[in-house]
Amino acid sequence: MQKAKLALKTTANHKTIVQLSPSVSVGGQDLLIVGGPCTVENLAQMEEVASRLAIAPVQALRGGVYKPRTSPYDFQGLGIEGLKILQSVRDRSGMPVITEVMAISQIDDIAAYADVLQVGSRNMQNFDLLKALGETDKPVLLKRGLAATVEEFVMAAEYILSHGNPNVILCERGIRSFDTYTRNVLDLGAVVALKQVTHLPVIVDPSHAAGKRELVADLARAAIACGADGVIVECHPEPEQSVSDARQALSLEAMVALAESLGAIATAVGRTIPQPTNILKAGTLPRLSLV
Ligand code: PEP
Ligand code: MN
Repeated sequence: MQKAKLALKTTANHKTIVQLSPSVSVGGQDLLIVGGPCTVENLAQMEEVASRLAIAPVQALRGGVYKPRTSPYDFQGLGIEGLKILQSVRDRSGMPVITEVMAISQIDDIAAYADVLQVGSRNMQNFDLLKALGETDKPVLLKRGLAATVEEFVMAAEYILSHGNPNVILCERGIRSFDTYTRNVLDLGAVVALKQVTHLPVIVDPSHAAGKRELVADLARAAIACGADGVIVECHPEPEQSVSDARQALSLEAMVALAESLGAIATAVGRTIPQPTNILKAGTLPRLSLV
């Protein structure tokens, strides 16, 4: 960490609060709970997700429209059409949306439609992308690389910060190891370390860490217990039918139950979870009457 200048704490209480929207932030007293599918598939899917989560203790939505797939033959995302779907559910639910940016050429379009630009694990050291995101003022959710050290992770954040954007959120999403039982190994030690050395918000993605839905809720609870500022969890109206990452997707009911279960742990560690305030706007979503 010797070369980090901007990401490191200067005093014990030094913390950055990143504002996702006028009413949603991360890094302060309030935790940030994010839910949504791996991939935006169609408008009906996202409306169902938004209408259910807007009335739960979930503050933001996720959904990829540019997807970094291991195989070039797998679905690559809806692109601009997906951004328009995200904008529609964002405007109608009042919830900020997070989506992945894979290339510099996508930044302007994504920034026009979404609230937070996610840098995926595979791009954590795409330094040109990080520099370009540093020149925007949009919040950036920086996911830890597949095999990145804590120091490399902090230095990746340093690229964004040093190019002028202070709105960086770190995300631990599991690292590669030898065991194939879980998809990755959730490194909660890194979460504790990052909270000690940086002033940036740190959230946890238990979905990509575990790779199996039955492990996700307990890992999310462990993340909040060890001091994470929030969690980002994949969920889907029909989890088994997800076009990507189906094995780790929670049902919407399980997502809501998970979000509700975090309240007691938040209280135990001196944090709070904002309760739904979007109910009136969510009432404009067509599926609300069904949930
Ligand atoms: C995702 O969030 O859908 C994703 C691809 O995550 P990661 O970059 O952590 O693999
Ligand atoms: Mn995914």
